[in-house]
Amino acid sequence: MVKMWLEFVEVIVLVFDVLIIGGGPAGLTAGLYGARSGLKTLMLEEAAPGGQAALTDRIENYPGFPEGISGPELMQRFMEQAVSYGMEYKNESAKTFEDRGHTKVVFTAGQQYEASSIIIASGARARDLNVPGENEFKGRGVSYCATCDGPFFRNREVAVVGGGDAAVEEALFLTRFASRVKLIHRRDQLRAARVLQERANNNAKLQLIWNSVVEEIKGGQQVEGVQLKDLATGEQHWEPVGGVFVFIGTVPNTGFLPAAILNDKGYVTADENLRTAIPGVFAAGDVRAKFLRQVTTAVGDGALAVMAAQHYLTEK
Ligand code: NAP
Repeated sequence: MVKMWLEFVEVIVLVFDVLIIGGGPAGLTAGLYGARSGLKTLMLEEAAPGGQAALTDRIENYPGFPEGISGPELMQRFMEQAVSYGMEYKNESAKTFEDRGHTKVVFTAGQQYEASSIIIASGARARDLNVPGENEFKGRGVSYCATCDGPFFRNREVAVVGGGDAAVEEALFLTRFASRVKLIHRRDQLRAARVLQERANNNAKLQLIWNSVVEEIKGGQQVEGVQLKDLATGEQHWEPVGGVFVFIGTVPNTGFLPAAILNDKGYVTADENLRTAIPGVFAAGDVRAKFLRQVTTAVGDGALAVMAAQHYLTEK
């Protein structure tokens, strides 16, 4: 009896005009545009909606908010707006994808969804440092989210690795809690935006350690410090810290996709109308190969991908 019921559950197929994989700014904008255009629109997101933007303490370069806005609040507003127009939402992870011509099928752990078009907006995740000790101390001092873990390091010294916008922004955020933040960068110049560089230079709690890479993260029960190598002199030195925050760029969440639509770095390749090589499959946001990954560009992608999908649906 139970088995029969399970078999019945397995064959339920839900059909949509547009299925969006990923609920960051690109996916939520696609959801808003799709639902508002009267398309039956489903968004799948494996974690909480908002993607990486929801892990960002403050967003200052999204127009319309002169004082800045917290990442979680902005993403909550995106979600509310999309849902208010009828976007459906499932807290599930896309495991595989099958192209059956006019029908695309996305499989999650317990369900299968059919759609006439797919928008891949699965974003990107933090890149690992790949040094000894990193895996061992994940969750015990090694973190990739300052907003999530910063408060655990009140009055302690922490290291931040990286020199881009994310590293500097998160290092500045961490100065609210930590007694000292040591920003370790492999060059002698930051990649981050000028405004962030100026703030870093003017923050007494932030110490810049130039031309240095982390060779090993060491500790006992928790992280106790990092072994650094100075790339200019070749010298090694020990930097005691209780936490290590890694912000050295991102890798795309594309493990469930066919290699035919990915570039050599794993990002989805799409044309100027965000069409991939598979008809009816579009890409939006950080997951796609592009020059600038920001909330603003993700939003533009989300809107364009839906309009391109709508065009595809009427033409096919
Ligand atoms: P990113 O801009 O690619 O910067 C990565 C940083 O990590 C670079 O400084 C790089 O050094 C360093 N790095 C890379 N691999 C390393 C390694 N193996 N060991 C040590 N250091 C390494 O990445 P991101 O800062 O995560 O930003 C990703 C995207 O999101 C960017 O487009 C960024 O503009 C955007 N973003 C924007 C904001 C904002 O606008 N407020 C905030 C966060 C992120 P090099 O400089 O030497 O290459």
